[in-house]
This record gives sequence, C-alpha cells and structure tokens, in this order.
Amino acid sequence: MTVAEELSRTDWDDVRLALFSKTTTDVMSALQRPARHWQDFLALISPAAEAFLPDMAAKAKALTRQRFGHTVSLFVPLYLSNLCANECTYCGFTMSNKIKRTKLTMAEISEEVYAIKKMGFDSVLLVTGEHETKAGMDYFLQAVELVKAHFSHLAMEVQPLSTDEYRALAAAGTDSVLVYQETYHRAHYAEYHLRGRKQDFDWRLATPDRLGEAGMNKIGLGALLGLSEWRTDSAFTALHLSLLQQRYWKSRYSVAFPRIKPCAGDQATQKSQVSDKQLIQLICAYRLCFPEVELSLSTRESPAFRDNVVPLAINQLSAASQTQPGGYSAPTTALEQFSTEDTRSANEVANSLTARGLDPVWTDWLNAFGR
Ligand code: SF4
Repeated sequence: MTVAEELSRTDWDDVRLALFSKTTTDVMSALQRPARHWQDFLALISPAAEAFLPDMAAKAKALTRQRFGHTVSLFVPLYLSNLCANECTYCGFTMSNKIKRTKLTMAEISEEVYAIKKMGFDSVLLVTGEHETKAGMDYFLQAVELVKAHFSHLAMEVQPLSTDEYRALAAAGTDSVLVYQETYHRAHYAEYHLRGRKQDFDWRLATPDRLGEAGMNKIGLGALLGLSEWRTDSAFTALHLSLLQQRYWKSRYSVAFPRIKPCAGDQATQKSQVSDKQLIQLICAYRLCFPEVELSLSTRESPAFRDNVVPLAINQLSAASQTQPGGYSAPTTALEQFSTEDTRSANEVANSLTARGLDPVWTDWLNAFGR
C-alpha cells in the first residue's frame, strides 16, 4: 500500500475527535517523552496544550539549537509563470481571474537570476502556476539547467508530475520539490478546486509518493491553513510526513505553514482562523515531534512575527520575496499571487537574524559533501 492509500483510509472525523479529546495529562506526557510519535503531535496541537506554550517553546528552541545550531537558511522564490489551468478559489492566479498572464523567457529568467544573485541568495525556489501544456517539462528542464548553474540549492513548486518526470528533474539539478495538499478534507478540497487537473485529490495526495520513488533529495509538505479546520489538517500533514519518512527514508523533508492571505479576485471562504499564538503552538509541536525536519516560514508573515518565532524552531526563511513573474528585475504588484507582509530587503532580514544571535546561511553546504 502506498502512503497516499494509507492516508486515504484515515477518517477525518476520527482524527478530529482524537485530537480534540486530548487532555492535560496527554500533553504533559508528550512533553516529557524523549522521542515523540504522532499521538503526541495530536496532544501538542490540541486546545489542551495551549496553556503549555511557554514550555513547548523552550523545549522546541533547545531541540532546534541541538539539531541546527544557530543556522537559518535563506532562500528566495523565483516566479517563472502565472499561467494556470486550474480554478482555485483562494489564489490570485486562478484561471478565471482577469490578470495579465506571462511566462518568462530564458532571457527574462537570466535577468531575474542576476537581480537575485545581487541580493546575495544562493538558494532559490522556482514557482509556476499549474499549466501543463504551456509550462511543462520541456520548459522546466530548460529553466532548471539555466538557474542551477548559479545556485547551490534549487527547489521547485509546480504542478504534480510523474515519477519519471521527477527523476528527470532531479538529474537536471533539482534538489527539492514542494507540493502542498492544501487541505486533506476531501469535500472541502472539492469546494475550493472548481476546474482543472488539481480537482484530482488523489493524484495530488500521491505526489510525495512519486517524489520518494524518484529519489528526490528533499520533499516539502504543507496545508494551506484556514481552508479546513486547521488542527485536523495539520494532524493529517504530520501523519503524511511520518509515513513518508518511514517509507522513503533516504529523502529529507521540510514543512511550511502558509496561512491564507488576501489576493486579487479572492472568493475563498475560510473555514477556520489560525491566530498567531496557535501558529506558534503548531510550529513548536512540529519541532518537538520531528526534530530533524526543516521548518520553513515565508514572507506571508509579518516582520515582528517572523523575528520572534524564527529563533524558536524555524531553520528556513524566505526573504525579499516577489510573488509575480519578473518581480525582481521589474518590480510591480499587478500580477502577484498573494500579498506579502514582510517586505524587508534580504540584508535587513539577515541583519535581524544576526541581532538575535542566529547565523544566516545563504548557501547549501550539502553540495560540498557530495550529498
Ligand atoms: S493555487 Fe496553484 S493551481 Fe491553484 S490557481 Fe493558484 S497557481 Fe493555479
């Protein structure tokens, strides 16, 4: 059975009931355990754990220093295209949105690379909308070859692909692929995804399996927090992660925590709100239960929130992000996927980390060890 099939057999209501039934005693035993499992994760994200946040934060911080030292890796997204053949009600790139569509040429990508390198970055995340016919494998392979020559780490966030396609991308220099399930609640998923291949919940759910089979070095997971009840969605994400770690143990993993942000033409109805305090609880729970997993925070969050939360558990941070194609060489907000909160420059973010006793890291050292 694949990880996706195993996940499909897990009932949303059972998980929700299990986590909302966790007690103070469950939280205390989860905190005391030297190695924690999925049931501990449920306890630590439950309402019962809210009163233990200072203890969770202290333990998460200690574990982060133990595993990652004071390092925080910096990366930047490079949007290649905003073409999309899907209708997602929460996204500015959704097919029916009347925005100017563009796909960067190789010459335009080179200009973006030049502007990004000038900011000091050595780690990049290539992002596209999901349009298989107009931005597919041929385009990705050309872009990866061009961009990888300038960066020590290259991640991608594009439409779900086949195992063979992931093998080809890995061979071309892709180090990491991020694919977010958005929500693990099937009925809600259908409400938010109205047209296009993204409507296929199972194809998306099985994407990390295909990445694992392809031997991708790193696999990134996440749910778009707010699309469904956030604690249950997070419980499913953590279960997904845990099962993948067991099955595809040669890959590394990362988790991100995107909260829904306003965007052009936004028609999404959020089903839950995640407060700042709850997001900190979630991030700390991940660190306590998955000490080796890379936890990532984007510029969706405000400078104050990022400055205070990063020292606790985060070891990957985007900075100076533009969420529209061509945004670094010709900045404009007209085409952006969502609005960012932290608009500081890369140097300002790095200086803020240094002021908190952290070491901003621009490069990927693993290359030096030949992976
Ligand atoms: S979330 Fe992705 S697939 Fe959906 S509309 Fe936006 S870019 Fe397209």
